[in-house]
Amino acid sequence: MNSRTALSHRYFQPWEWACRDRCGGGVNEMNYDFTRRLDLSRGLGETLYRVRSAYRCLAHNKAVHGVSNSAHLLGDAADIETLNGRARFMVVAQTILAELVILGFLAPGQARYYAEVLEGQGQIRIGIPNKDFVHLDIHPDKPAPWLFTY
Ligand SMILES: [Zn+2]
Repeated sequence: MNSRTALSHRYFQPWEWACRDRCGGGVNEMNYDFTRRLDLSRGLGETLYRVRSAYRCLAHNKAVHGVSNSAHLLGDAADIETLNGRARFMVVAQTILAELVILGFLAPGQARYYAEVLEGQGQIRIGIPNKDFVHLDIHPDKPAPWLFTY
């Protein structure tokens, strides 16, 4: 399904997709193929999963210096707030697990269980520089699981 109508989601309210300049755009412009992924992802854990920006009208995209071909203009994107490295890790982990559900490789219950295991027992720390490598560690004195940029 690839609908651009306001379909109901279990874990999101329609206003969460709306353009942040309050023009009223967005609720009916989001791509359901995209939002159903977020809905699944949010439902996999307790991590705070707040949308900072989803749909953007042209004026708002310019105001926030979005690229001219931004996926936000199409209703195909969302920026999810992450309070710390643990939340950042879980948003990414839950998004990947949700993708496996969408692709038919995991049942939602399995994905929920794996998300819980990762959050409670995960020891990996992932650092993402703006370069062509990723940093990985299991430092014993630093928080985990954790995803950070540097
Ligand atoms: Zn707008």
